[in-house]
Amino acid sequence: MGLLLKASVAIDGSKFKAVNNRDKNFTSAKIERRRKQLEESVSRYLSQLDTADLQDPSETLALKKVRIKEKLEKLKSEMAKLDAIEKQVLASPDQQISLTDPDSRSMATSGRGSGVVGYNVQVAVDTENHLIVTHEVTNVGSDRAQLANSAQAAKAALDVEKLEAVADRGYFNGVEILACEQVGITVTLPKPMTSSAKSEGRFGKQDFVYLADENVYRCPAGEKLKYRYTNEEHGQTLHRYWTDACRTCPLKAQCTTGRERRITRWEHEEVVEAVQERLDKNPEAMRTRRETVEHPFGTMKMRMGATHFLMKTLPKVATEMALHVLAYNLTRVLNIVGVKPIMAAVRA
Ligand code: SF4
Repeated sequence: MGLLLKASVAIDGSKFKAVNNRDKNFTSAKIERRRKQLEESVSRYLSQLDTADLQDPSETLALKKVRIKEKLEKLKSEMAKLDAIEKQVLASPDQQISLTDPDSRSMATSGRGSGVVGYNVQVAVDTENHLIVTHEVTNVGSDRAQLANSAQAAKAALDVEKLEAVADRGYFNGVEILACEQVGITVTLPKPMTSSAKSEGRFGKQDFVYLADENVYRCPAGEKLKYRYTNEEHGQTLHRYWTDACRTCPLKAQCTTGRERRITRWEHEEVVEAVQERLDKNPEAMRTRRETVEHPFGTMKMRMGATHFLMKTLPKVATEMALHVLAYNLTRVLNIVGVKPIMAAVRA
């Protein structure tokens, strides 16, 4: 119907709540916290028992002691249950279990310190008409390894040679960006500021300029950091650069706590640099991204209500999500073109 003419998508993920409530999800940390609470309760009741023993025996006191003993028994059985759950947690591959919906996972959300037990729904949304091109339900909380997968699925669904994709910083991952680039997908996304030097008030890597012709980095003091050696780390080939001028540099305190400042360059760093350049040229890209993905996520969550999914386990939840995506896309097209054209297109 000519609604997906621009080969441009925004990629994002959002956490959708499972049927599983937070108290029925266990991780080692949660078990530790619960065990501590139980132990504190036990010692409180034991000390109440001691105090009761010191007082004059009376009928009310005897009753009180019976009640305390009952509570202690209950705590003991809770403790035993917790031990059994801990065994299951330790035996599970990602060290957590959910009792109501075994496939749901405890995941952090964008709100500070908040989280849900649920699923991560990844979507690629067309930036022009906000139609969902592809989606996927996963139970992996992080978005970092999802970029290439989502972008490639969108490219295949749109059946295009080239695709533009925007995403947020949570997707920034050199290997994923490279995988997109290699199949004709141009991605734009900001790089997360994770430099420890920068956060400690020293120069960050972004303060060093790479001069491709000479294969050197120019530092804030104007010195050139020469290429020194190459090694491999976590399967990535990394080149190292530094200069001997650091020892006498007046800016050294702002630069490094070591003997000299070393800069690392990934063998495909130019791909990452191109992403930054695109973002610098098009600062609106991030606003487009936000507006594009907020529309479908907001609409679908509103329709789903307070607890999002009704089904349990990943395959069923995925089907439920597919129906929601279909309903969203249909109503979206209805709103754009009206009833008659869509019915004519369905019949055709
Ligand atoms: S310490 Fe070394 S790398 Fe840093 S500004 Fe000085 S010369 Fe340049």
